[in-house]
Amino acid sequence: MRVLSSFAALAAALVVSATAWAARYPQYFPRVTEIASDVAGRPVDVYCEVQEDWDVDPVQAVAPDAWGYTRFDPHTGQPLYAALEPRTCGYLLLLIQDPNERSGLHGKEGYYGEARGLLSLLHEANHLRGLRSESAAECRALASVPAYARALGADRRHVAKLVRLARRVHGLLSPEYQIGC
Ligand SMILES: [Zn+2]
Repeated sequence: MRVLSSFAALAAALVVSATAWAARYPQYFPRVTEIASDVAGRPVDVYCEVQEDWDVDPVQAVAPDAWGYTRFDPHTGQPLYAALEPRTCGYLLLLIQDPNERSGLHGKEGYYGEARGLLSLLHEANHLRGLRSESAAECRALASVPAYARALGADRRHVAKLVRLARRVHGLLSPEYQIGC
């Protein structure tokens, strides 16, 4: 059985072109895995899916608007890997590239998308840590946004901005993600 992080509530509201950004920013990708492994407390795998793969990913059958998901072993319950959808990963890579400048690719939504990308990565990384509860993963993710924004090199102003935007993203998620935060 597949356990999914269904960030479905907001994903559809983002009007961005779904391009395979991940393939354009390969030099920044190792940072994604580093962050996830740091959160998980062990080496973990996170895949940035390109659109062609995402379109046929089995996740489409259960949560087509998800920003990412973590797959758990159906027998042991252990987390296996996480995957991020192309737009989410694209924003994340743009944030890693320059945490102090909005991408500008998508107007006002640019930096918001980057905050969402960081929150999504931290959320899935907490699943990879072993937390299956959506609210537990999400609350820990939200709390760790400042530390990882700083680790990426964001200055004080942009750390505050990322925190504010991540809280806005979080506030629009379903209650399942917000209990206890
Ligand atoms: Zn989740």
